Amino acid sequence: MSQLDDLPPLRDVIRRHDLAPKKSLGQNFLLDLNLTSRIARAGGRLEGVTVVEVGPGPGGLTRALLAEGAKRVVAIEKDTRAIAALAEVQARYPGRLDVVEDDALGVDMAALAGDGPARVVANLPYNVATPLLIGWVAADRWPPWWDRLVLMFQREVAERIVAQPGDDAYGRLAVLCGWRCEAKIAFDVGPQAFTPPPKVTSSVVRLEPRQSPLPCPVRDLEIVTQAAFGQRRKMLRQSLKSLGDAAALLSAAGIEATRRAEEIPVEGFVALARARAAMV
Ligand code: SAM
Repeated sequence: MSQLDDLPPLRDVIRRHDLAPKKSLGQNFLLDLNLTSRIARAGGRLEGVTVVEVGPGPGGLTRALLAEGAKRVVAIEKDTRAIAALAEVQARYPGRLDVVEDDALGVDMAALAGDGPARVVANLPYNVATPLLIGWVAADRWPPWWDRLVLMFQREVAERIVAQPGDDAYGRLAVLCGWRCEAKIAFDVGPQAFTPPPKVTSSVVRLEPRQSPLPCPVRDLEIVTQAAFGQRRKMLRQSLKSLGDAAALLSAAGIEATRRAEEIPVEGFVALARARAAMV
């Protein structure tokens, strides 16, 4: 696709609005509209769907989401300089783009999304990508307000999200995501696709919520995974000592005390979290 819409090329937008990328804001822009369309399409059929986008920047992905038919896009952007650039997109798609100038870590996205099907599609700023993801998957309310997350991460983070027991990348993030979601890497994106190019390859990850994840108090799961993976190569009887009687906890969860965090599947951590919740 050479022409997504009749808006000016993104390089023009960046120049006119003085949007020189800032490292402090994790700004690596996507200027290739074929690629932004591919990411938008990873969001599935968007007709009738509200899409929340974190960090629209100059609006390349925003434009693709609107062109792909999203009912409404709610774009949350911290950089004031981008707001005027996005006003041009708002004018092109009247009533379909809400721009919220704020820090995405502090806003109530469920309230912004409103009623009806909602999804998150974003080329995330790498410096806040993991806390945002944890906020989405470790929320108190489940099923969540979104039915899919389509997110760009550094490849190394993407691998930590989809890792399985025994993988080097298996840890707290894989357990939290695997407990609540089906997660997979949709495709990789090389550094040259971004302006400026980052040092590493990126990946688009798709997460879909499990409707009935194993019941378990989320805070306890966070606590046991933190303790267990804090010393990932030690036996659990050692790494869980900070939680009190590690032997009793492991026995209540039906897990051998000599096993290590890196080999325990999600179900094992859920059992540990439930055992802890019952003990404290
Ligand atoms: N979506 C654009 C694209 O694909 O070209 C820009 C993506 S860039 C990787 C990340 C964007 O997130 C930037 O526009 C940046 O200003 C914005 N951003 C950084 N930190 C943010 C935060 N805490 N809340 C909201 N937006 C943020």
